[in-house]
Amino acid sequence: MSLNVRTTTIHADYFCDICGEAATSVFDHGRGCCICGADMCRKHTILDPDDYGDYPDRYCSDCWEIGKEHREKIFSIQFEADQKKNEEERKWTEKAIAYRGIAKDSMQNS
Ligand SMILES: [Zn+2]
Ligand SMILES: [Zn+2]
Repeated sequence: MSLNVRTTTIHADYFCDICGEAATSVFDHGRGCCICGADMCRKHTILDPDDYGDYPDRYCSDCWEIGKEHREKIFSIQFEADQKKNEEERKWTEKAIAYRGIAKDSMQNS
């Protein structure tokens, strides 16, 4: 029995939309910039630094630059929403505890 091992070279048909170098974004995760869809080389790829998952959002360096003010706005919107959510959960908890108190009282009285 003979075994032939062949190595195939992956040929890059995609090029960075910013500098024209071979794009790696296509091979890394099969997707480019999450804003404009551009293919990027490694140098022009920015991974979301606030995303600690295995597949953080990828941005081209242009979109990252353009998006600074929008990221700040999105951050403050999320912060406000989080605070409102916590406030509602606090009210919910208070109501539930009060309800439990009433239920206990009526049980003791009967
Ligand atoms: Zn590039
Ligand atoms: Zn982009």
